[in-house]
Amino acid sequence: MHFIDLAAQQDRLRTGIEKRIAAVLSHGSYIMGPEVKELETALAEFCGAAHCVSCANGTDALELALIALGVGPGDAVLVPSFTFAATAEVVPGTGAVPVFVDVDLATYNMCPNSLSRAIEHARDLGLRPAVIIPVDLFGLPADYPEVSRIAEAASAVVIGDSAQGFGGSIKGQMTGTFGKITTTSFFPAKPLGCYGDGGALFTDDADLAVLLDSLRVHGKGAEKYDNVRIGRNSRLDTLQAAVLLEKLAVYGEEIEARNRIARRYTTGLSTKFATPVIPEGYRSIWAQYTLRTDTPAARDNAMSALKAAGIPSAIYYPRPLNKQTAYREFPCDPNGLPNSELAAQTVFSLPMHPYLSEADQDRVIDVLSRA
Ligand SMILES: *Cc1c(COP(=O)(O)O)cnc(C)c1O
Repeated sequence: MHFIDLAAQQDRLRTGIEKRIAAVLSHGSYIMGPEVKELETALAEFCGAAHCVSCANGTDALELALIALGVGPGDAVLVPSFTFAATAEVVPGTGAVPVFVDVDLATYNMCPNSLSRAIEHARDLGLRPAVIIPVDLFGLPADYPEVSRIAEAASAVVIGDSAQGFGGSIKGQMTGTFGKITTTSFFPAKPLGCYGDGGALFTDDADLAVLLDSLRVHGKGAEKYDNVRIGRNSRLDTLQAAVLLEKLAVYGEEIEARNRIARRYTTGLSTKFATPVIPEGYRSIWAQYTLRTDTPAARDNAMSALKAAGIPSAIYYPRPLNKQTAYREFPCDPNGLPNSELAAQTVFSLPMHPYLSEADQDRVIDVLSRA
């Protein structure tokens, strides 16, 4: 059994992907070829955003968003402490300070109360709360309605980190359309992944889209050899766009399959574990299916039982960012980050991908029920 089975998906899509790759080899436009624009149009259409700008990876997408918004020294960027490092990693380079916010223990997403406290704390430190980056952790959209309300009151801008959440929705509105900018990642193991690195940004703001397009190509202006700002090189390869076009065609169906699998896990496991909580009107894309135990020992026990049965499981994330060496010195919610720390000690994730068979799922449920 695989934790994520990319080979099963490839078996299904191989012919189409090979055709797409062959087309790129024929036209030879390896950088910013026609597939890149075609993909951007398709991605924007998929989520309902006005503009999509692709880039080299999900970390660059976050960094490009901060640069486009002019974030710099004296600014605070509020980020959850329970996330992948990239969410906070992009902040110090701009001269701004990441400020850690706790998560809600039910959804593992940014906690609005903690966010309010952290904003207050940033101000006490003489920082301007410039940007808030909620993360769609494990595929569940963040609490955008509440985060946006707090952001507005604080005159802060929201960047949604949807590296794990592209295709999720709240009352039918998809990620990519919340906040000023949304970023995503096409790292192979993400729900919509390519065969290398890739990323994208979404916005409804046409000026911002033009700025992002310039920033990802060396700060280009209208005239090729007159770069009008300091940019970087962060383009999505044409070959990766070609692969993604084939994968996007079945992505909606795959999200359905992930939801079927998640429902089945929850039915089988909710009496023994804290199963994922999906708030009313929310739709997750299940980048991870994550359980929580009462104690760290119970987690060890459950994961050992799975391992003994040859079933892979993983911990996302064993250490909150505020406890990691490079991030220890940055400010946090003054009430502490107890939920992030508890989650790090008690969560674990099960095999999850659209091609997971019911028989394999039953084995997982059976082993965990007897653990
Ligand atoms: C994967 C991930 C990123 C970074 O994406 P890359 O494409 O690997 O750079 C950023 N934020 C979160 C929450 C992620 O899971």
